[in-house]
Amino acid sequence: MDELKGGIKRITLPLPTRPGHVHTYLLPGDDGWTLVDTGVGLPDAKESWAAALEEAGGRVATIFVTHFHPDHVGAAADLHELTGAPVYQGVLDYAQCELVWGNPAWSHRLLDWFRLHGTPDDVTAELVGQSSVYRPFIRYQPDPILVEAGEHIDGWQLVAAPGHADGQLCLLKDEVLIAADHLLGRITPTVGLWPASRADPLGDYLHALDCTIELAPRIALPGHGDVVEAPAARASELKEHHRLRLEETVGALGVDPRTGYDLSFDLFGAKLQPAGRRFAVAETLSHAERLVHEGAAVRHEVGGTVTYTAA
Ligand SMILES: [Zn+2]
Repeated sequence: MDELKGGIKRITLPLPTRPGHVHTYLLPGDDGWTLVDTGVGLPDAKESWAAALEEAGGRVATIFVTHFHPDHVGAAADLHELTGAPVYQGVLDYAQCELVWGNPAWSHRLLDWFRLHGTPDDVTAELVGQSSVYRPFIRYQPDPILVEAGEHIDGWQLVAAPGHADGQLCLLKDEVLIAADHLLGRITPTVGLWPASRADPLGDYLHALDCTIELAPRIALPGHGDVVEAPAARASELKEHHRLRLEETVGALGVDPRTGYDLSFDLFGAKLQPAGRRFAVAETLSHAERLVHEGAAVRHEVGGTVTYTAA
C-alpha cells in the first residue's frame, strides 16, 4: 500500500498476465473511503482485500468501478460482500459488462466477429480461447447503482473517458484525475474495435484526450504504472502516437481489399502469441474505422467478410 498526496492510498494487486499488476485507490471522504476498482476476482480476492482494508483502516463507504475489464471489475461482488458498500458503475459500461461477462453466447459472438474480419478458422478458435482465461474470475456486482459522466461521487466528478472501453469513467477533484486506463505513463492504452462496441472507438479516444488536455489536471493516477505527472503532455503524446499509427494504416491500404486480420501483420508484425494477435486485430480495426470516418479508407462487406481499401 502506498500513501499518496491528499490522503489517497494506492493498493496494487498482482495480475497473472501483462502488465502484471493493477492499481486500485482509496479516496478519503467524510463517510469513509471511496474504493476505485477491484482487481481480478481470484479465489483469494476476498482474503487479500480483507487484509488490505484492515491495514488501510476506516470503512469503505462506496465502491466505484471505472470499466468492466477483468482487472478492474473482477472482484466487485467480493468487495461488496466484504464491506456492504454499494457498487457504482457507468450505465453504458455496466450494459457492456453484462453483455460480455453475463452472457454464455458471447464467445460465439466473438468467434463470428473474428471470422467476419478475415481470421482463419483455426486461428479464430485460439484467439477466442484466450479471451475466456479470465471468465471464471469475473465476479461483477449485479444491479449496481448506475451513474453517468457529469454526476458526482463523494465530491469527485465523473468524467467520460471512452476509447479503451466505451463507457469508461474517470474521477476528477482538486485537479487530481483518477485515470483508470485512459492515461497510462509508459504503456499505450489499447483502443480496439470489438463486437457491440461503439462505431469509432479511436475517434472517441482522440476526443477524450483533447478533453483531458482542456481539463489540464495536475496529476493523473492510472490503473497501471507510475503516477502521470504531466497528464496533458502525456495526452498529447498519445494523440501523436495514434496519428503515426493512422499514417501507417493508410500506407498499408491500397486498391486490393484487405481484412483487419491481414492488416494486423503489417501494423503489429508476424510474431504474436494468440493473446497479442487478438488485441492487434481489434486495434488495427479501430484505426481502419477511424480512417473510414475521416474519408481516407473505404469499408466493404462481401460474402461475410469485411475488408478495407484506400479511399
Ligand atoms: Zn486495466
